[in-house]
Amino acid sequence: MKKILNYINGELVGPKSGQYLDNYNPSIGKVYSLIPNSDADDVQRAQEAAQAAFPEWSVTPKDERSRILMKLADLIDANLDMLAKAESVDNGKPVSLAKSVDIPRAASNFRFYATAVVQYSTHAHEMEDTAINYTLRQPIGVAGCISPWNLPLYLFSWKIAPALASGNCVVAKPSEVTPMTAYLLSKLCIEAGLPNGVLNIVHGLGPKVGQAITEHPDIPMISFTGGTVTGKHIASIAAPMFKKLSLELGGKNPNIIFADCDFDKMLSTTIRSSFANQGQICLCGSRIFIERPIYEKFKTAFVEKVSRMKVGNPADDTTKMGAIVSQSHMEKVLSYVDLAKDEGGTVLTGGNQALVDGECAEGWFIHPTIIEGLSFDCRTNQEEIFGPVVTIMPFDTEEEVLMMANSTKYGLASTVWTENLKKAHRMARNLHAGIVWINCWLLRDLRTPFGGAKQSGVGREGGFEALEFFTEPKNVCIKY
Ligand code: NAD
Repeated sequence: MKKILNYINGELVGPKSGQYLDNYNPSIGKVYSLIPNSDADDVQRAQEAAQAAFPEWSVTPKDERSRILMKLADLIDANLDMLAKAESVDNGKPVSLAKSVDIPRAASNFRFYATAVVQYSTHAHEMEDTAINYTLRQPIGVAGCISPWNLPLYLFSWKIAPALASGNCVVAKPSEVTPMTAYLLSKLCIEAGLPNGVLNIVHGLGPKVGQAITEHPDIPMISFTGGTVTGKHIASIAAPMFKKLSLELGGKNPNIIFADCDFDKMLSTTIRSSFANQGQICLCGSRIFIERPIYEKFKTAFVEKVSRMKVGNPADDTTKMGAIVSQSHMEKVLSYVDLAKDEGGTVLTGGNQALVDGECAEGWFIHPTIIEGLSFDCRTNQEEIFGPVVTIMPFDTEEEVLMMANSTKYGLASTVWTENLKKAHRMARNLHAGIVWINCWLLRDLRTPFGGAKQSGVGREGGFEALEFFTEPKNVCIKY
């Protein structure tokens, strides 16, 4: 069986303990590879390699760092088909999605930060004829980057690219649920000529490897994307150690549809924003609020289209919905459908495991699910489900929908559909969210700040925000 290896000091190596974990292909429900069950010893080796590489990498000219990251991006592009297939097998997502979104975006992340770092400039503050201050932004040292399973290479590279571009070395941990493309990336790093120790990838479980990274006294910054409960745990360890922390956490995003919207555009995008990647994108809109005059029209059209979505083998180009990432996650998502029924909801379509013929007969699939009849403040509408389950609710006024939209502990993203510009601006100002999409969804400009309010996170990624996170500002004051 294929063995995934750690990438430490430029070499592909097994875990010190010699122990491996099973890695599943969720579309067939079977183990297909093995992943290192690394521990604190492996993290220690990785940290030492990163620390040793830091003095040279941090003073390597930006142009040279940029050149290597560009080469890595080119290698990702050159291996698009192979990486997309691997991502699909490992995660269960349709190969067409991995090919059009995940892998191209991973290449873009490296390309974006390879160019951003050479364009980046710092501030100067002049005190008239007394003195001039200028800000130095220096790399800090070894960064810990911990990422989730839903967009494996996409989110992994979103952290690593700015950390490396700004001159830090990295100890990174991909999700143990979807480790394959991070492993394949480590091979491409070797091919791209990334110096030894600059990037180290340690595979394994969160409570072992992630915990060891978080606790390490010589890893002074942690960039984490994952669940809010894990983020809280990481913060409780890192904050008393005064580490720099970037936390990108869970969401329960509202999708607000006004009667004056462009109905067809809204409908096709809402299908995507509800069920892309089986609803396992932190930005998916899982609570759909519809202005009452078009509630019935929306419901009929939405249910009709969603009930015809093809759930099937992710390797098939015509599949719209692939497998759920793991059996335990499938069970968790289905338990929320049971909860919704207990809370008085009516399942309009879906609500159960989907059985797929052929080699996927034992796979973990769920029919896209729409539920109505729930109050905005029930558990189903307050807790993150992170699967192909949405609720629909009517509303009458802007004030009412804002109150319901803002009622959760989360504040990641939101979507608003209206042709009324003033209303759009009002909603954008009043929604408690880090991102507001008006008449679109998941339209991403990598220069913009990315992240959430309330329990959806602390700090922002994206654009120069990430370069600021991965550097320490130092003010230099010179008297004239
Ligand atoms: P998770 O929190 O279970 O795991 C995320 C990562 O943290 C994994 O690599 C895991 O191994 C690691 N981890 C687990 N325990 C740890 C510990 N004690 N110390 C250090 N690391 C530990 O999340 P998940 O199930 O992989 O991902 C789904 C969650 O991620 C959802 O809540 C989703 O909303 C969120 N997410 C957020 C964003 C965002 O940008 N805000 C993007 C994608 C996913």
